[in-house]
Amino acid sequence: MSVLDHGLTVGDGVFETVKTVQGRPFALTRHLERLTRSARGLGLPDPDHDEIRRAARTVTDATPLPLGRLRITYTGGISPLGSDRGDNAPGLVVALGEVSRRPDSTAVITVPWTRNERSAVAGLKTTSYAENVVALARAHGQGASEALFANTVGQLCEGTGSNVFVVLDGEIHTPPLASGCLAGITRALAVEWTGARETELSPEVLEHAEEIFLTSTTRDVQAVHRVDARELPGAPGPVTAKAMRVFDERAGDDLDP
Ligand code: PLP
Repeated sequence: MSVLDHGLTVGDGVFETVKTVQGRPFALTRHLERLTRSARGLGLPDPDHDEIRRAARTVTDATPLPLGRLRITYTGGISPLGSDRGDNAPGLVVALGEVSRRPDSTAVITVPWTRNERSAVAGLKTTSYAENVVALARAHGQGASEALFANTVGQLCEGTGSNVFVVLDGEIHTPPLASGCLAGITRALAVEWTGARETELSPEVLEHAEEIFLTSTTRDVQAVHRVDARELPGAPGPVTAKAMRVFDERAGDDLDP
């Protein structure tokens, strides 16, 4: 990839992080479909799924890891910005890193910055993650591992790299995609497997929800034991613990051969 690739210089790129278990990618088809949706959102040509699958196989075969993460980055190459991309070659990098098993629970903060649900790139997984980097740095500075955003109309949206779920009166809720959150693969599975509802939520629910949890490729389902100054003793609570169990039981369901 050129050092002038616009994926590096201006964030003209899209990406996926895919969990691997014993070298087998989890939910790869869903990830590749989302990569294509994100690419189309940026006007990039459709990525070649077979090429990415081959590259993924090459790196997972080269480095056997019990638990890993594939980072697939697909970029605009070096065509003049905003022009017809013509036959400019897009950039593709597939890399594998190790992940350690995440703790069962974590602390999160809320941040005053907003996700723009009406942005041209809302819901796309682009390489422009600077906003997330700033928010995550604030979280780390406060002993937390994630920062939660509201959107421009004051609804709860998502974390820097995760989706958020709350338990209210024993029922699981998560913000709808219209909130501007990413269509998380883990979020979709959690909705499917737990019957969670998509509900417009005010960030104030974080002050009284019985339980809160996050979902992402690298966290799976992770309970929240502190949100800002509020402690949630006993996290994971019973509903979150059940969601975690469902995930553990079904996590092998969609592994690539
Ligand atoms: N929201 C954002 C902004 C993300 O970057 C991610 C993950 O990378 C997620 C949510 C969770 O998505 P997934 O479950 O597909 O990892």
